[in-house]
Amino acid sequence: MPDVTPFSCAGRRVLITGGGTGLGLAMARCLHAAGATVVVNGRRAEVLDAALPQIGPRAHALVGDVTAPGAADALVRRAGELAGGAITVLINNAGVHCKKPLAETTDSDFDGVLGTHVGAAFRLSRAAAAGMGGDGVILFMASMTSLIGMPKVVAYSAAKSAYLGMTRALASELAADGIRVNAIAPGWIESPMLRQALAGDPARQAKILARTPMGRFGDPDDIGTTAVWLCSPAARFITGTVIPVDGGASIGF
Ligand code: NAD
Repeated sequence: MPDVTPFSCAGRRVLITGGGTGLGLAMARCLHAAGATVVVNGRRAEVLDAALPQIGPRAHALVGDVTAPGAADALVRRAGELAGGAITVLINNAGVHCKKPLAETTDSDFDGVLGTHVGAAFRLSRAAAAGMGGDGVILFMASMTSLIGMPKVVAYSAAKSAYLGMTRALASELAADGIRVNAIAPGWIESPMLRQALAGDPARQAKILARTPMGRFGDPDDIGTTAVWLCSPAARFITGTVIPVDGGASIGF
C-alpha cells in the first residue's frame, strides 16, 4: 500500500444523485467523515437543506431532476463549481420504485423507471467521466433485483440489471483513463423507499426477513461505509464488480 491512509477519501469531490434521503444521505455522511467534499443532488430544495447539517461543513446542495433534458451536463458542471474542482466521484443513486404486476405496469411506468435509473445514469456518467482526470470513481446503486428474481418489479429489475452491464462495460472502457466503476447491490435497507415498497404488505416483509441469514434489515450506514471503501485507495484494484451488502440475502436459503 502506498503512503496513504487506505480508507481516506480526503481530496475527493463527490456528486451523489438522490443524496438528500436514505442511502444517498448515509453515503454523503460517511464519505464526508472520510474527508470528501460532497455535493448532494435531489429535486426538493427543502430536503437537501435539511440534509446539509447532517452531513457536515464540506457539503453542498444541488437541486435538479436528473431526467430533465440537458440536466446531466449542467449538474456535473455545477457540482464541480460547488466542490471547488471537477468531481472525481459520481454515485448514481437516484431512484424510484414501482411495484406492480406485469399486467398493470404501463408503458409510462416502465419508461419512467428506466429513464430515472438507466438513462440519467448513462448521461451523468458520460459527463462526469470526461472531467475526472486520471483518478475517478463511478458507483451504481444496484439492487437484489440485479441478482435474483422477484415478482411485481419488472421495470425496477430491468433498470437495476442494466446497471451490472453498464458497470462492466464502463469499467473495461475507462480503466485506461484511471476511472474505476463498481456497483453496490443493497439488500433490504431501512429507508423511505423500503418503507414505501413494504407498505401494507406484512407478508412480503416477513418473507424478506426469513430469507435473510442475518435476520434483519440493513442500516443505511452499511451502504455508506461500503461506498467509502470503494472510493478509497483501499479499493484501488477493484473495478467492474458488484458488491452485495445484504446480510446474506442473495445467497441465503
Ligand atoms: P429514497 O427514496 O430515500 O432515495 C431515492 C432518492 O432519489 C430520493 O431522494 C429521491 O428524491 C431521488 N430521486 C428520485 N428521482 C429523482 C430524479 N429524477 N432526480 C433527482 N433525484 C431523484 O430511497 P433509498 O432506499 O435511499 O434509495 C436509494 C437508491 O438505493 C435507489 O437507487 C434504490 O433503488 C437503491 N436501493 C435501495 C434499497 C433499499 O432497501 N433501501 C435496496 C436496493 C437498492
